[in-house]
Amino acid sequence: MVNNIPAGNLQLCAALLFSGSSFCQISKLLDAFKIQGISESCFHKHQAKLLIPTINWQWKIDQDDAIENAIANGAVTLGGDMRADSPGHSAKYGSYTMMDLKANRVIDIQLVQSNEVGNSQRMEKEGFERSLSLLEERGVVVQSLVTDRHTGVQKFMREQKKDIRHFFDPWHMGKGLGKKMDALSKGKGLQDVGLWRKSVVNHLYWSATTSTTGEEVVANWSSVANHIQNIHSHENTLFPSCLHEPLVGDQTRHWLKPSTAACEKFTAILLSPRLLKDMHKISPEYHTSGIECFHSLILKFLPKNVVFSFKGMLCRLQLAAMHYNENAGRSQASTADGDLRYSIVFPKFKHGEFIVRALKSNPTTGYIDKLMELLFHHVVEDPQPYLDFSGQMAVPEKLCAQFIRAEKEEAVSRHRSRFFKNT
Ligand SMILES: [Zn+2]
Repeated sequence: MVNNIPAGNLQLCAALLFSGSSFCQISKLLDAFKIQGISESCFHKHQAKLLIPTINWQWKIDQDDAIENAIANGAVTLGGDMRADSPGHSAKYGSYTMMDLKANRVIDIQLVQSNEVGNSQRMEKEGFERSLSLLEERGVVVQSLVTDRHTGVQKFMREQKKDIRHFFDPWHMGKGLGKKMDALSKGKGLQDVGLWRKSVVNHLYWSATTSTTGEEVVANWSSVANHIQNIHSHENTLFPSCLHEPLVGDQTRHWLKPSTAACEKFTAILLSPRLLKDMHKISPEYHTSGIECFHSLILKFLPKNVVFSFKGMLCRLQLAAMHYNENAGRSQASTADGDLRYSIVFPKFKHGEFIVRALKSNPTTGYIDKLMELLFHHVVEDPQPYLDFSGQMAVPEKLCAQFIRAEKEEAVSRHRSRFFKNT
């Protein structure tokens, strides 16, 4: 017994939650193994009174450390992005992740419930604002910020945070461009456009990393519209000609013939005024792929088919952040003889081709040991301070089914009015 609680019960509940498992999974496993387990109500009781406060507390310690570390490294560059719990208009929760991009470390997470801000569309801006103001209040002086091109965030930065340099994430811009090219290449006689996908997206990354000013990025980037037509000198003093050697023999590409539909439509995408405008602000050094990794890691802690309460969800996000921060800098695995290990993978985007990837060493879970230690040596003995701390967190009013219904109806009517406008 620990403080009148059967220790094994508490240990099982803690192991279940801290490892990001769900009650349903673990009780199925125990049933199959014919091991007497715990009831769901017992789990929820321990979760609410002891486990969530333990996680909230430990995350605070980790976050303090991440903030101190960011401040010590000077000139902070943050990256931010939102993850919605379901696609489309009816997302109930959105979690906003702010990352210290230099340290590749999650520095803050804000969980926003859609009814707090009116609708799910506004969640991203809300999460972003809350996170930025929390970090600024804690003394972080942000020098630059990298996000996708979310308009609400852009407007806020332009109007309220003029002294922070706002950059757009090259990875998001490349993804958007790739999607447009995919859509275009499905058209009749336009399939050649698709053959350029990889090199055009690479050119976008190259333009971002090799330029020092916005004008230079645009000059480097715009040359691609000539290059695809086998024209390699450009009427631009900043980038007068391509840097590659003359392309002959095997190196010739599927050049597009000037004035054909494929060429005209493709060029219109590559040189669209909005893209050129945004290209001025493409991030030269940092990108937010770490946040993408973190967002896919969240799935291991928050399976999409399980329903969680606000606090249940928040503590699982904090667990995911602890896991990420402990393992983001993992080194490459090596054999007993000390040779570095690689693996061959067939990613979907390669359409059957393989790539060689450095194999990372196995992830560690030191944070679980820390949580267990905190739980059994401190929280169980005297839970009140931890409960009080956890209780300070603002929990929004429960989202009722009516609200989700209203939002769906609104989305349908928006869609209808657009449809009628267009017809
Ligand atoms: Zn060229």
